[in-house]
Amino acid sequence: MRDKVLQKIFPAFGTVNMVTLYGNFDPDIAEEVKERALQLHRRFSFFEPGSDIFRINQQAGIKPVAVHQDTFFVLFRALAYGKETQGAFDITSGPMDRLWRNSIRSAKIPLKSDIIECRRLIGLSDLILDKAAGTAFLRRKGQQIDLGGIAKGYAADEALRILKKYKVCNALVNFGGTVIAIGREQRIGVQSPYQKNGEPMADIVVQNKAVITSGTYERGFFLDGRRYHHIIDPRTGWPADSGLLSLTLVGDGAMALDALATGICVLGEKSGLPLLEKHGIEAVFISSSGEIKITCGLQEKFFLKSK
Ligand code: ADP
Ligand code: MG
Repeated sequence: MRDKVLQKIFPAFGTVNMVTLYGNFDPDIAEEVKERALQLHRRFSFFEPGSDIFRINQQAGIKPVAVHQDTFFVLFRALAYGKETQGAFDITSGPMDRLWRNSIRSAKIPLKSDIIECRRLIGLSDLILDKAAGTAFLRRKGQQIDLGGIAKGYAADEALRILKKYKVCNALVNFGGTVIAIGREQRIGVQSPYQKNGEPMADIVVQNKAVITSGTYERGFFLDGRRYHHIIDPRTGWPADSGLLSLTLVGDGAMALDALATGICVLGEKSGLPLLEKHGIEAVFISSSGEIKITCGLQEKFFLKSK
């Protein structure tokens, strides 16, 4: 007999999110996952006035802002991932993210002077977290935090926590490509960087793992043979140019994977590998020239689809 399937789809974090429960479960469980994700969206949103991040950005250079403990925790972890990636993952890239977002929208490279100006506003050491007071403070006016590279990961980990609380054995969480496969073995599609139709280029078979893809192909434009996209190298102020087209990570803990995937897209394969080894994370690297490299632990679990 086939399992009963309960699925909930909802927008948040600027993307489509999905939670699927296999088995006979109360629909309220899926509803609780959705409500928690929406709550996190409201705390982490860059745009929503009143979100913790919006208020920190608004009060940059003025005063520390009291934030919810979810926000404090994610900011705290984001600083740690920033350190680990030698600044390649940097949540204070906000002004630069905006600049390139607008540039992508109009398919025009930003003015050099604007890049220099935004570059000046980036700096992890300017984010001051006070644990006792539960506050966050950006030292300089104009500085902005953007949690776009880590928020979905934390939300997916929280979804997993809720599902475990209700002893859901088999489920799939997919928050805009940030995936956690819970329980039985599941095939997770790796999106093709070459095709726009959402067709996976390969499947990875996983069990109780998070799977995350960060791709420089996702949002961007081509000009004079170069690709301009939404993952920014905070050290240069230009879109990452590490030779990676896409990076898929498989491991435990979606938040760590989310941050590291973004960071390693900036760092590139060579500098990224030691970090992955340290965290016990497996990876699929797709280079700009189309070469695919798979770490040892995934060799038997990675299935390329024939065209
Ligand atoms: P996606 O959200 O497309 O799945 P990512 O997890 O890689 O992809 O996050 C990309 C988002 O993270 C960008 O849209 C931007 O908001 C933010 N970002 C871009 N570059 C960086 C960076 N170097 N460090 C931290 N965050 C970044
Ligand atoms: Mg990320």
